[in-house]
Amino acid sequence: MKIALTNEFKQAIPLLLHLKEHGFQAYFVGGSVRDVLLHRSKHDVDITTDAKPNEMKAIFKTANHYSGEKHGTVLIFFAGSNYEVTTFRIDGQYLDNRHPETVSFTKNLQDDLSRRDFTINAFAVNEEGELFDYFGGLNDLKNHIIKTVGQAETRFSEDALRILRAFRFSSQLNFEIEEKTLLAGAKIKNNLADIAVERIFSEFSKLLSGDNPSKSLKQMLLLGITDYLPGHQLINDPSALFTDFTGIQSTIDAINWTRFVWFSHLRGEKLNQYLDCWKMSNHLKTQIIKSVNFLSKKAVDNLDLFTIGSDIAIALSAVSRPDQNELKQRYEKLVIHEVSELQITGFDLKKIGIPSGPIFGKIIRNLRKKVILEQLANQKTVLIQEAKNDFSNLGTIKK
Ligand code: ATP
Ligand code: MG
Repeated sequence: MKIALTNEFKQAIPLLLHLKEHGFQAYFVGGSVRDVLLHRSKHDVDITTDAKPNEMKAIFKTANHYSGEKHGTVLIFFAGSNYEVTTFRIDGQYLDNRHPETVSFTKNLQDDLSRRDFTINAFAVNEEGELFDYFGGLNDLKNHIIKTVGQAETRFSEDALRILRAFRFSSQLNFEIEEKTLLAGAKIKNNLADIAVERIFSEFSKLLSGDNPSKSLKQMLLLGITDYLPGHQLINDPSALFTDFTGIQSTIDAINWTRFVWFSHLRGEKLNQYLDCWKMSNHLKTQIIKSVNFLSKKAVDNLDLFTIGSDIAIALSAVSRPDQNELKQRYEKLVIHEVSELQITGFDLKKIGIPSGPIFGKIIRNLRKKVILEQLANQKTVLIQEAKNDFSNLGTIKK
């Protein structure tokens, strides 16, 4: 069968042809092929070849070392884009539920496709758009089914992350996990304890951003797979996972995670502990905490609006509230949105004799608060006068 290649693929055809001119095989592979068949937009195009990493480097000046290189992946910069090009590979034995002990390279495309997780992820396409589907992926795609390549129990025992990947694809594509695959996932779930948190985080974030996270979360809860998610024991009432998230997903992690922890009723110190279990970036963690704190306020004053700052868009997209339009308008109308917009500088304060140190900080915070609450005009002369008053008051208190 032939498929119509989209522009992302067309741009990379010369790369495939370059490998072929040097006597190698080369195909498009992985998620990009699945998504073009589903008419879903995006996405990074991945390439597979029988050229080994050092052979690729010999024929592409722009081939770069890459963390995945010992598994055969090289990053090639070509016609303005980076491409991950991976050597056809057979995985050796899996003894630790997550990594093959060895990988060996092969000259056979089908071998490479057989090590891939699901039938819908095991397609290859050549430069003419000819599709190679050795495991019935097209049929599963048509029937909206997630099914492992080969026996599910074996494949999940090799790498338990695949269990979560099944739920992630089920949520992203709104597909059903085939029954045998689902039962094997439930059976092998203990092995998820061996999987690195970072890998779980990446799959779970994609699950949350999918078309139907509710379905996946419910199934995972019923099968006890949620017990293997970091920090799950901190969620008092996991039935919150039955919340219907459908139709409001975003591609922004901070929004999806805020919604998830909000409906899981995680607040305050517990939320802090929970997010730490996930080893996410500090930036993301801070955005989530700021958003949950903001959403927890019944009455929002201008200081709250200033504190959340531009993250207000995240908070209000995560959980809808009846006053959200009013809050957006009030935020827009704040006199200042950044401290730097205050019409007074540290230099001005020094000029009127205020020494740097804790008093300095206190005075600035007081000025900021009064300007935000519109108790003071944001004008230099007004602020300097207020600073002088503050300084003498603080000085009096100190005495
Ligand atoms: P996405 O759209 O999120 O990038 P993807 O299908 O490209 O989805 P990736 O995680 O980028 O998923 O992996 C690329 C391909 O590598 C997959 O389509 C699959 O063929 C294979 N693959 C990835 N992870 C595994 C795994 N744990 N076990 C087996 N095959 C895997
Ligand atoms: Mg991918």
